[in-house]
Amino acid sequence: MSQNYEMLIDGKWTKSKSGASRNITDPASGELVAVVPESSKEDAVAAIQAARRAFDYGPWRKVSALERGKILFRIGDAIRAEGAKLAKLEVQNCGKPLAEAEYDVADAANCFEFYGGLATKIQGETMSVPANSVSIVVREPVGVCGQIIPWNYPLLMAAWKLAPALAAGNTVILKPSELTPVTALELGRLMMALEIPAGVVNIITGPGAGAGEELASNPNVDKIAFTGGTVTGRKIMNGATSNLKKISLELGGKNPNIVFADADLEAAIDGALFAAFANQGEVCSAGSRLLVESSIHKKLVDGMLAKIPKIKLGHGLTAGVKMGPLISAAHREKVESYIKIGRDEGATLVCGGKRPQGPEFEKGHFLEPTIFDYVKPQMRVAKEEIFGPVLSVIPFNSEAQAIQIANDTEYGLAAAVWTQNATRGLRVTKELRAGITWINNYHSTFNELPWGGYKQSGMGRELGLYGIEAYLETKQININLDTAPIGWY
Ligand code: NAD
Repeated sequence: MSQNYEMLIDGKWTKSKSGASRNITDPASGELVAVVPESSKEDAVAAIQAARRAFDYGPWRKVSALERGKILFRIGDAIRAEGAKLAKLEVQNCGKPLAEAEYDVADAANCFEFYGGLATKIQGETMSVPANSVSIVVREPVGVCGQIIPWNYPLLMAAWKLAPALAAGNTVILKPSELTPVTALELGRLMMALEIPAGVVNIITGPGAGAGEELASNPNVDKIAFTGGTVTGRKIMNGATSNLKKISLELGGKNPNIVFADADLEAAIDGALFAAFANQGEVCSAGSRLLVESSIHKKLVDGMLAKIPKIKLGHGLTAGVKMGPLISAAHREKVESYIKIGRDEGATLVCGGKRPQGPEFEKGHFLEPTIFDYVKPQMRVAKEEIFGPVLSVIPFNSEAQAIQIANDTEYGLAAAVWTQNATRGLRVTKELRAGITWINNYHSTFNELPWGGYKQSGMGRELGLYGIEAYLETKQININLDTAPIGWY
């Protein structure tokens, strides 16, 4: 049964000013999941004004850090208490398998708790600089923060954005993707039950054009935090020039997953499949380029092909399903266009490449896990982010060549190395131009560790101590101990 939602503006549940709404459908079945307001620029302005008032005159930044932290812990508890409902809604809204949604929900709760603990650890410095003075460096909230997130991890991305911003004492306007607003609105409901003051958290639904652009460009917004595609990231940056707002960007990737001949083969096979196909491959950090040492190339590819039948496709709520549908018909067509490009470029399709057949797949945007072998580094399927279940396998002959291919990309989000030689693992990883790296591991995220990209994969870092930095200003207070006139004139 579908549910009607409203947006959260100034502590009140609100329809869009235009009255427009959007149907949210289950990408696996086409069934109606929810009806949500379709905001426009005017709704964004109302939310920005509410957040501005709440920051400038409201109580939030004057609430003690301890109290803010306690509220974040309560948000974590509230997410856990409604975890089963949130996980189910996440599956119905964005298609991922239930086990992955459950993981996201737990991680979102952990994120609020991590930043709840950090709220009381925000510290400055004191210095006896210059002589005859004492200087204090204090950290203060940035102010009003616009936060724009994508559709692949709707609840988790909301947590990554809201938790550090609120811990630091900011007020926020969060805009989830127009395709996946449901769990962010549910999170808003949980937060309002905790009596967070009106205007501190505003959640507006709707497309990037209009509401999203307004968040990026409105001079009353002090900071914009964005997760999404690199092309959109450029537009956000352009909008932010209006008042030179602070900006952080988490963007796309074309991430190398490098397997050396001395790797534990079984672990590498599992790791390569998980890297490429978790969350249908709709992951910014997906290991979409598998670089494999030539001497084990055949063994690795054969090992993956033997396991592909275990990636059961279907509705994410069906027991045993390991891969759900893609987010939309348009996105599946985009991914399919890359499969055609790969074929035309001469890569060898060794599995997938088509829609699965059967009545259970007819109404959803399903696509089989797809592997191209003998991909050349200059091919488009090796260079461009496909953001779907398409893996490009690229053989290499030496460590130096692996590093060169890995770094030959405009992106620099994530990378992994599989080897049992610890020295090689570290040596190669140090050469990789990426912000998130794993050795003998893939996709693990940790609330304690920084997340973000080099090059065109973004700017700034989320999570960990680094994540709260993005939401803090730094102020020097200099106290002159020598009160005699300076005698300059
Ligand atoms: P997208 O860029 O199309 O949209 C992301 C968000 O931006 C949505 O909320 C959308 O409504 C909004 N938006 C679109 N145009 C806008 C504009 N002109 N002004 C303001 N807002 C606008 O991305 P998507 O398709 O939702 O997500 C996929 C992309 O996100 C991929 O490229 C993926 O790599 C990236 N991503 C990155 C990370 C990371 O941590 N680096 C995490 C998840 C997704």
